Parts: sequence; C-alpha cells; structure tokens
Amino acid sequence: MSENYAFTPPATVSVPVVGSLERFPVHRIYCVGRNYEEHAKEMGFTGREPPFFFLKPADAIVVAEPGQTASTPYPTLTSNLHHEIELVVAIGTGGKNIKAADAAKHIHGYAVGLDMTRRDLQGEMKKLGRPWCIGKAYDHSAPIGPITLAANAGDVNNAPIWLQVNGADRQRSNVNKLIWNVAETIEHLSAAWELQPGDLIYTGTPEGVNAVVRGDTMVGAVDGLTPISVQVV
Ligand code: MN
Repeated sequence: MSENYAFTPPATVSVPVVGSLERFPVHRIYCVGRNYEEHAKEMGFTGREPPFFFLKPADAIVVAEPGQTASTPYPTLTSNLHHEIELVVAIGTGGKNIKAADAAKHIHGYAVGLDMTRRDLQGEMKKLGRPWCIGKAYDHSAPIGPITLAANAGDVNNAPIWLQVNGADRQRSNVNKLIWNVAETIEHLSAAWELQPGDLIYTGTPEGVNAVVRGDTMVGAVDGLTPISVQVV
C-alpha cells in the first residue's frame, strides 16, 4: 500500500557504480573546505586549520554517466562560476565517532566530482560572515562521475588529480597533498554528524580554481577512477 503523500515524492538521487548494475543512492553531500595547502593560499589563507565542512543538497548532483559528457546549466546570479576538481568518497557503512584507523571499513567507493562554486556570491557571504549556501549549494552544483568500488580503486590516497578546461590544464596535484586525508576527514566529520550509507564527501580541491563560462567543457580525473566530463551550458 502506498503512503498518502501530499504530492509525489522526488525520486532518489543515485550515482552509477562501475562494473555493477547497482546504483549508489545519495543521502547527503558533505564538502571539506580549504583542504590543500596551495589552494588555501590562493584563497588567502595559510597553515593547517582544523577541517571545516559545508553541505550541498543531494539533488544538486549532476551525474556524468560513463563515457558521456554531462551538461550543467550556468547558474543564475553569478558572473564568476568556478570549477573545483575533487576526490569524492562514497560512504557505504554509517557510523559516528569513527577513528581514522577504522575509516576504510566505512568506504563503499570513490568518484571524481566537481564542487562548482558561485565564487562571487561565496566571497560576499564570507565578507558579511553569512552562510555560504548561495555560493556552494545551488542547483546542479555537484557534478559527479561513476563510483569505483574501494577494492578496485587502487591507491587513491596517492593519486594524481587534475582538471582541464577545453583541453588546457587548470588544476594538477596529487591526493597525497590533502591537508586532512580521507581517513582523518571521516574521523572529524563523523564526530560532528552520524554518517549514513549514501553520504558523499567531496574532500577538497587543489590549487588552480578558476572561472568557466557557457560552452566550456571540463574534463577531470583522479588516477584509478573514471574521469568526469561536464559541459557548462
Ligand atoms: Mn571544494
């Protein structure tokens, strides 16, 4: 028997899993701010600070299906839309107060994602001491590629990460330069929220963030994972 909802509930947001017919249903999207030193510097900050987090709504996901170029609309209210290429961790087993040493057990897999940012709006909110939501958590702000199961992902903690726009290098680094690595991030995050199966963690972006405009195609990768291709339309 179906529930008596006031209207049809939205469909579950899901991400394909490489080599599987199963899709990964998305619960929440957590993001880590300023988690590569050179990116922290380009944003005007230095040194290691405790990790901090923000969220995007699950329905901000834009799935780049394998072998296809996804489209993401140029958002309203901005004239400075930035790309941020990121390693995304997909949580398969939830928990709270997870220790870094136990974090691997909770990871279902990994994907390549883009933390798209209305940088001008984020900057205004920073200046005013207001929440970043309008800059970070807008519609279609979270493109993601297929999830590779952890067992098949290789050494993602020590993998090149890069982004090209229209074939030209924009961002190039290595996941081993994360200030707070994946396991430490899970420890900090799960102390603040109880992680649930279906949670995604965008782990932060390296230096080289910059603007894209309509028509630009972003291709990004983390070695060992399926690359992502997204066009701004
Ligand atoms: Mn980011």
